[in-house]
Amino acid sequence: MPTLDLRRLILLLSICATLLVQGFLLYSGYQLQRRLLIEQTLETNRIYAVKLAELAEDFLYSSQQRLTYSANLLRSRLDDPAFIDAELERLRVQLDTFNSVYLVNADGRLRAFSPHDPQRIADRISAGSEEILLRREPLVSRPFITARGRLVVALAQPLFDDQGTFLGYLGGSIYLREPSVLNKLLGEHYHRDGSYLYAFSPDRHVLYHDDPHWIGQQLDESEITQAVREGRSGSLRLLSEKGEEVLAGYATVQGAGWGVVTQRPLQVTLAELKSLAWEVAGFVTPVLLVTMLVIWWLSWIISRPLRQLARSVQQPDGLLAAQEVRKVRSWYYEAAQLKRSILAGLELLNRKIGKLNLDSITDPLTGLVNRRGAQLSLEEWENDARPFAVVLMDIDHFKQVNDQFGHDAGDRTLQFLASQMRKVARASDVLCRSGGEEFMMLLPDTELEDAARVAERLRRLMEESVTTAGRPVTLSFGVAHYPQTNSFPEKVLKAADEALYRAKEQGRNRVELAPG
Ligand code: GH3
Ligand code: MG
Ligand code: MG
Repeated sequence: MPTLDLRRLILLLSICATLLVQGFLLYSGYQLQRRLLIEQTLETNRIYAVKLAELAEDFLYSSQQRLTYSANLLRSRLDDPAFIDAELERLRVQLDTFNSVYLVNADGRLRAFSPHDPQRIADRISAGSEEILLRREPLVSRPFITARGRLVVALAQPLFDDQGTFLGYLGGSIYLREPSVLNKLLGEHYHRDGSYLYAFSPDRHVLYHDDPHWIGQQLDESEITQAVREGRSGSLRLLSEKGEEVLAGYATVQGAGWGVVTQRPLQVTLAELKSLAWEVAGFVTPVLLVTMLVIWWLSWIISRPLRQLARSVQQPDGLLAAQEVRKVRSWYYEAAQLKRSILAGLELLNRKIGKLNLDSITDPLTGLVNRRGAQLSLEEWENDARPFAVVLMDIDHFKQVNDQFGHDAGDRTLQFLASQMRKVARASDVLCRSGGEEFMMLLPDTELEDAARVAERLRRLMEESVTTAGRPVTLSFGVAHYPQTNSFPEKVLKAADEALYRAKEQGRNRVELAPG
């Protein structure tokens, strides 16, 4: 499994957080809008139902008024059939309220009918309108089916003579299944978006419905029919007869006791919200994408110093690692602290390694470099083709010094020699204890003769000094030159050794040059 890096973690975290927050905002926004929309629709439907109920009420009231007015005219002219016919005709045609208008005798037989229809005269009125005859008061009938099979509601106004004798009534019918004033009144407001409207009588028969097939059917008892019976208006979320959820507003037509219901499918109401949600999504998505890009970029910027630090410390060379760490731009607190501690750690390590390196090329007794140290310089110069001279030396009869004055005195003599070597050497010269009581000086950019002179100075210096041994200690020297003596450094050293050997042979305390 690939290890997660900081950048991926930041990216993951930020994207999760962003998506969660955005999702939550969108969801809660959607829920809020949904609730508002539902409440609003319910209220709109209620107000609409109330308005229509008021319209119907006004209409019924004014229609009743007209009937009352005509009834008053008719009751004193009941002996004038021509007048009766004319008045009924006027009532029907002029006002265009009723589909038919008729005068009924107290015994329930038709006396006159408009539109004029002689066949009907003296017929008994329809069974449904007996209610009117019995009650003998102005009223709006329940829906009933006429002898001709029409579904109607009737408005009726009773006629009495001056003595209060019931003379019959004046009726006006509105046909429910045919074009009528009621269709016009309610149908005018019909919306074609799945919303619909219906009205029902106190006995729950449908008087009007946007879907005509419902007209005349009886509704089941429901919360709405109950509320209408109590004369209330309101709104409700309910299941329609088709099984879909609808938002309904209802109101009562005072007087007639009719109910008016306007309802809208929930689905239609929410469709708007869905398109709104898509619109919002269309707006939010690019913003979200840009946010992701910014997060991606920021995660890169934030993780960069740590990434660079992590890469730098993988570098095997401590010095190079420190160099790279120093280059890292740590622009925030944690990265800066981390960089500081890594650098501190690396510096400590490098110092330790440096000291170890130094120790490994240093002779502890004299502080001069050892053979390995000298070797490093030789290799470097050979690479650079840098000329140099080599002076080899060996203490004469050192064994005797040790034997005579002890090993410690011998050691101090070696240290003294080292200090004298430093005196005659330049800063660029490499001074080396090559083993035991043998020493070597490597003199870069130095001619053979000049090196011989340095050897000579040292020889004389030692010859003239009284060492800790209590007497002068002398040395024999062999001097050679690269590339003058030989073009291979090892051979140059060998030549110097041979020269030293010659110096020993020739009586010690002298400087011999390698032939070349
Ligand atoms: P020559 O070189 O003149 O031929 O005589 P020598 O006495 O110097 O001969 P040799 O090279 O055989 O002896 C070297 C002596 O140096 C042997 C050893 O006791 C002594 N020696 C080597 N290393 C040390 C050291 O670190 N400290 C002391 N005190 N003595 C050392
Ligand atoms: Mg020796
Ligand atoms: Mg010796």
